[in-house]
Amino acid sequence: PGPQLPHDPEKKTIVVLGSGWGATSFLNTLDTTDYNVVVISPRNYFLFTPLLPSVAVGTLSPRSILQPTRYVTRHKTRTVEVIEAEAQSVDPVNKTVSFVDNSDIQGTVSSTTIPYDYLVYAVGAETQTFGIPGVTEHACFMKELNDAEKMQRRFLDCLESAAFPGQSEDEIERLLHMVVVGGGPTGVELSGELHDFLEEDLKSWYPELAGKIKITLVEALPSVLPMFSKRLIDYTMSTFKESKIDILTQTMVKEVKERSVLLAMPDKSIVDMPCGMVVWAAGNRGRKVTQDLMAQLAGAQTNKRGITIDEYMEMKGSNGSIFAIGDCTSSAHAPTAQVAQQQGSYLARAFAQRVKRDRLVDQVADLERSAAMSLHEDDRKKVLAEAEAAKRQLAKFKIRPFSYSHQGTLAYIGSDKAIADLPFLNGSFASGGLLTYYFWRSAYISTLFSLRNRTLVATDWLRTKIFGRDVSRE
Ligand code: FAD
Ligand code: NAD
Repeated sequence: PGPQLPHDPEKKTIVVLGSGWGATSFLNTLDTTDYNVVVISPRNYFLFTPLLPSVAVGTLSPRSILQPTRYVTRHKTRTVEVIEAEAQSVDPVNKTVSFVDNSDIQGTVSSTTIPYDYLVYAVGAETQTFGIPGVTEHACFMKELNDAEKMQRRFLDCLESAAFPGQSEDEIERLLHMVVVGGGPTGVELSGELHDFLEEDLKSWYPELAGKIKITLVEALPSVLPMFSKRLIDYTMSTFKESKIDILTQTMVKEVKERSVLLAMPDKSIVDMPCGMVVWAAGNRGRKVTQDLMAQLAGAQTNKRGITIDEYMEMKGSNGSIFAIGDCTSSAHAPTAQVAQQQGSYLARAFAQRVKRDRLVDQVADLERSAAMSLHEDDRKKVLAEAEAAKRQLAKFKIRPFSYSHQGTLAYIGSDKAIADLPFLNGSFASGGLLTYYFWRSAYISTLFSLRNRTLVATDWLRTKIFGRDVSRE
């Protein structure tokens, strides 16, 4: 039989907000037989973020790391409704979500409100700017697909403008200076990818400019990649030194201007450093819709870093109706894809258990009702005994709490080198270099959700190896 109608009034409705790591993993694992499921997200696809910096420099095509959300939902036993829209507010008391169609083309209806029984809240986070002047206006981010595309256009624009006849040496130097802010994994991986682009392609496409390009990575803390072991931090620093990527640690960006960045140096002096492009990768902050939701449950939600959840992913204060996963939460785990993915599949399995528990609750209520209506004492006793047995089963019923299994941390640092901190025999194993790079590639290829994406990414890697990256600017 084909998929049934989307909405069955007998079944509970799960509304999923988001189509990122957490939501997609939830949808992949969820058995939809017993629920109505509605997915709401402003983008109708999943984005494989670990390979986003590779898209920014043209190693991979954007489409290779996207998976339409309907690819996941079409294989489900019952129809899942996918709505491309942005949730604007959640009412945790009346259990409703209001959302708007933010796309360029809209019909006569572009906003509405729907009820939910359970809300799976997986809207991720946005890039933290700390309110630093000029960041939103002049810097590129590295979070969404359009950020990577914008950065690529900007980078190529800088090259073409530097190649314009009669440009002064100072201006060429400025245009060819790329500044990456944030020495977390996003900033480091992006710097590495930019360097590869420079080494492998720009030397042949723009030979007159290639030697003049400069990459600077600015980090406020004393070291980059604090989540990695000291040995791998040192390895990254020395690889960057060989690659001529300047790392400025203990240096804080105070302002981003149209043609420069203002830096507070370790000696407290302020330096105005000219540059052609700034990529801002300074971490995460909660979205407005998340802050508004938390404010409505202020008694239980006091952590500014994100939604407080318990070990069942339940948002504290929501009375069992909102479950939050991924970067929008503040838990003991780092905001990573690995965590969001495990939380998503855990939650889907917990929902399967919840169906069994709800059935037992209904069974007990039905039996007690029919016992009360029994005319014969013998029948009544029999039904009450059955109700007691169902109650005992219910008392034993426990949904297992979430437990995170860390698979290790990997990062690409350019020059065909990657670093890996892997849990190994209860300790950890740190490795860096070419072999780790092949491990990085195979780990990411196998993590991609579909065979289609795996094929596209592998083909792109081969295409780049043979023909180089595309430097045409759209
Ligand atoms: P996301 O994946 O960001 O998904 C959020 C979803 O919510 C999106 O679909 C978004 O469109 C949607 N949304 C936004 N606003 C709304 C709204 N108002 N209503 C409804 N939906 C909304 N982690 C790793 O473990 N390993 C890595 O190698 C790695 N590399 C990374 C590289 C980069 C460049 C970046 C930016 C991050 C990387 N991460 C990595 C971190 C990882 O991407 C995040 O931790 C992960 O995406 C979190 O998953 P999530 O589902 O919480 O959020
Ligand atoms: P991050 O929070 O890890 O790093 C941001 C860095 O920017 C911090 O070190 C901070 O000190 C610095 N910073 C902030 N403001 C600054 C300023 N004004 N001037 C200079 N430096 C400033 O952010 P991220 O790298 O985007 O990572 C976000 C999350 O995604 C993390 O949990 C990370 O582990 C995960 N991630 C993982 C991978 C991977 O595993 N390969 C890749 C990317 C992201």
